[in-house]
Order: sequence, then structure tokens, then C-alpha cells
Amino acid sequence: MDLIDVREIRVPTTRNEVRFAPGEIPLGGGTWLFSEPQPGVFGLVDLTALGWEPITITDDALIVSATCTIAELLRLPAQEGWVAQPLFAQCVNSLLASFKIWNVATVGGNICTSLPAGALISLAASLDATAVIWYAGPSGERRMPVSQFVLASRTNELAPGEVLRSIEFPLDHLRSRTGFRRIALNELGRTGTLVIARLDETGEVVFTITGGTTRPRQLRFDALPSATQLAAAVGSITEWFTDAHGSADWRAGQSARFAEELRIELGGTS
Ligand SMILES: Cc1cc2nc3c(=O)[nH]c(=O)nc-3n(C[C@H](O)[C@H](O)[C@H](O)COP(=O)(O)OP(=O)(O)OC[C@H]3O[C@@H](n4cnc5c(N)ncnc54)[C@H](O)[C@@H]3O)c2cc1C
Repeated sequence: MDLIDVREIRVPTTRNEVRFAPGEIPLGGGTWLFSEPQPGVFGLVDLTALGWEPITITDDALIVSATCTIAELLRLPAQEGWVAQPLFAQCVNSLLASFKIWNVATVGGNICTSLPAGALISLAASLDATAVIWYAGPSGERRMPVSQFVLASRTNELAPGEVLRSIEFPLDHLRSRTGFRRIALNELGRTGTLVIARLDETGEVVFTITGGTTRPRQLRFDALPSATQLAAAVGSITEWFTDAHGSADWRAGQSARFAEELRIELGGTS
């Protein structure tokens, strides 16, 4: 779609140039930005020429730049000991009409669009990844869990002038056992709810619910909970919502069912 109010697209190549005049917003792959009218947007600042290395692996983290495309993330070869790595493909395949947008849609764009069905949000939140946020200007950054970055549908923690620089996945969590469940109202439909469970080497168990709730919700236990404990925790969630892709009751019910299935899958007793 033509964004008829946009007068300029700037393409910074250095951090100093990453500044936003009133009415200017960041541009990642543009797959969401160009899919609907953007009232009040007069300029785009294309982040994709900044030369950010898409993927870096350090001693303790997998660092994925915001401009890394979904296709690049998916091409990361299997890494020894990363038993959670299948989650990458599971989440990427959860995007509606996934393969059509993989080559241009960016990881940062998906997270910053902040839709409940943001599958890279599901991935990053479930692995307790950290969002690295740049203030406008030559320096300065802040960090926060991705699970807390999204506040509601289409609303996140970014202040005007801030950009998401990268997502850092702790390697410890990539070595965790995980389980995945997702449902949509039809085979290629938008996610109705998506539940990921993670069992760490420390014994901690984390259930992350996205898609069915307006923001990521995490349920943490020191060890595998009983069915009753888990059901009570899921029952305490209030952020279920109703739209064309499912009713709040259905989302809550399916999420409870999935959480219990994953509890058993990770070794819980019935
Ligand atoms: C066929 C189709 C199916 C889709 N299915 C889904 C789906 O199932 N789930 C879903 O969540 N989305 C879906 N989308 C929407 C969108 O394509 C994806 O969310 C995609 O990942 C957005 O990434 P992008 O790089 O194209 O973002 P853009 O369109 O470039 O940007 C999206 C938003 O993020 C902001 N932004 C981008 N990068 C940054 C950054 N680094 N820092 C700060 N702000 C930034 C932009 O200003 C804009 O507000 C779909 C789109 C299409 C066309």
C-alpha cells in the first residue's frame, strides 16, 4: 500500500543518524507498515542499512539484531546442546502466511508491532530473552525482558525516538527442554493461543502464554507444578481477549489444556 503522507524515507548508516523528527518512525522490513494506512506518519527511518550483524553467538548469549530477518534467523544451523532450538521454526511457522514474509520481515519489526500473534515475541519471551533498546542519539541503551516489553496489543515499552537494537537469548535457556502448542481457528489462521513450556537445567519451569492474551503472560515454578497448581495459575490470568480469531473463553480453555499437556510432556505426573 502507498503511504501517501510519507514525504521522505531516510536511510541512516551510523548510529548518530538514528534520530526521529516528529512524524518519523522506524522502518524494518515494512511488511506491516506498508500493509495498512499510517495516519500521522510523515517519514520513515530505514534501519536496515546500519550494518547490524544479524546473529552473533557469544559465550553466554545468542544475540539477534532487530534487523535480522526471520529467514536469517531460521537459517541458523543447529547448535550442539541447544535442545530448545526447534522452537525457532515452531514460532516462525506460527506467523500467518509465514513464508511470504520471512525474507523481509525482521525480528525487531515483529516484536515492535506488538500484536498478540507476534510469534517472535512468543519465542523471545519463552526463552527469557532480553530486549536491548537504544535511546535516540549517539549513545545510551536500556535493557528489559521481552516478556515485559509488550504491554498490550500494538502497545509496547518504546518511547518516541527509541529503537529496538537487539534481542539477547541466554544460552542456558537454549539448553532447556521445551514444549510447544498452538491453535488457530483454521489451518492457516492467525494464532488463537500459543503456549510454550520450558524446563531449565536448574529445575525451574516456565509456561509462557501469548496469542491468547493481550500481552505475554508467564507462569513460573521452582519445579514441575501439580495439575492443580498449574490450573490455578492459568486461571489467574485475566488478559484473554475476543476478536475474529477466537473468543476469550476459548483462548483460556485451550491454553489451560495445552499447559497441562506440556506439564505432562515435561515429566509431570497425572
Ligand atoms: C501475510 C502477512 C501475514 C502476517 N502475519 C503476522 C502474524 O501472524 N503475526 C504477526 O505478529 N504479524 C504478522 N504480520 C505482520 C508483520 O508482517 C510482522 O509482524 C513482521 O514481522 C513485521 O516485521 P517488519 O520488519 O516488516 O516490520 P515493519 O513493518 O517494518 O515495522 C512494524 C512496526 O515496528 C516498528 N519497528 C520496526 N523495527 C523497529 C525497531 N528496530 N525498533 C523500533 N521499532 C521498530 C515500525 O515502526 C512499525 O511500527 C503479517 C503480515 C503479512 C503481510
